[in-house]
Amino acid sequence: MTVTVFHNVRPFGEQPRDLIAVDGELVAEIPPGAEVERIDGAGRLALPTLVDAHIHPDKTSWGEPWHSRRPAHGIAEYVAGDVELARALPTPVGERALRLMSHAAARGTRAMRAHADVAPAYGLSGIEGVAEAARKLAGIVDVELVAFPQHGVVRTPGVAELLAEAAASGLVTHIGGIDPAGFDADGGREGDNGDQLSTVFGLAEKHGLGLDIHLHDRGEQGLAPLRDIAARTRALGLQGRVNVGHAFAVAALSGRELDETADLLAEAGISLTTVALSVTTILPFARLAERGVTVGLGSDGVRDSWSPFGDADMLHRAWLAAWALDARLDEELEACFRVAADGGAELLGLPEADLRPGSPADFMLMDGECLPQAVVDVPRRDLVVRAGRVVARDGRLV
Ligand SMILES: [Zn+2]
Repeated sequence: MTVTVFHNVRPFGEQPRDLIAVDGELVAEIPPGAEVERIDGAGRLALPTLVDAHIHPDKTSWGEPWHSRRPAHGIAEYVAGDVELARALPTPVGERALRLMSHAAARGTRAMRAHADVAPAYGLSGIEGVAEAARKLAGIVDVELVAFPQHGVVRTPGVAELLAEAAASGLVTHIGGIDPAGFDADGGREGDNGDQLSTVFGLAEKHGLGLDIHLHDRGEQGLAPLRDIAARTRALGLQGRVNVGHAFAVAALSGRELDETADLLAEAGISLTTVALSVTTILPFARLAERGVTVGLGSDGVRDSWSPFGDADMLHRAWLAAWALDARLDEELEACFRVAADGGAELLGLPEADLRPGSPADFMLMDGECLPQAVVDVPRRDLVVRAGRVVARDGRLV
């Protein structure tokens, strides 16, 4: 039996106490006769580690020489930039993904859902690279992997076949999708490459996988596919296994329209992910949660061809969400942390880490006073603990 006592820590800023980890879980008391390892917390603030519900490790240039971006308009131009960057980077995708995912883990990410592009330009190298990185980080960060048709299933010949290969590879947990009514609309080409949603739902059903679909389209062009996704999810009995990322069309709703859409999603068991890009695109996650919709927070692209920003630090992402929402009250700041901690855990089907007995021993220690202050100050993570084991110190994996 492995018993580790993290002595003198302050869970959520409460009075100092010990956190006792036995076989990966927190317990109330040290089991009699157990051999105990003691780690001094020196009165540090303890907070649960976080879940990155939407990240693209295959696209990153993190740790590479600086990449200067050119102007780009529309998804097709950004996608061309992805291919150009991937070809220019000297480091293989598996190594780049490992570097970024290790950095995320050292900043307190306990699990992530990673999207990796599947397209003729890369074959399956993206998912193979991210899967290889995930294997190396087993026991440190749990990784779900989405085969993401960033180049479009309908508009790019060969993607549907590669998605089928990815689905059968055993490497992915989810099939992705992108803007089925906009960027990847069938445009009357039914019978050529078919329509995207039929293809991706068909693969998910055939291989017993989940779905995680990027939906940037706004207004009715975003809401109509959402209704379609909900209907297909119910028809195939995929409730609880389908997520929609971004959902900017939902972010723009309020009042009765928002509630009706939330009810539709809740009934179909569809979750959403938001990346806190701006006040107009962040999902109203508190209202959605009240109506029974699970919402997770994610990094999205990190220092890739789309954007020089992002750092895969989920505490910083909670800061961004709070900034985007103009959070001021403690409960508003805490809600931004909770969407990253509990929302993400629920989305990935992980037990909530709440630092109480019975909770997974997943937490991070930092110099800080309380949760709202940590969201604002984003202190350095001095110690990161996964399943009762110290996995990182001072921002680096041990
Ligand atoms: Zn994305």
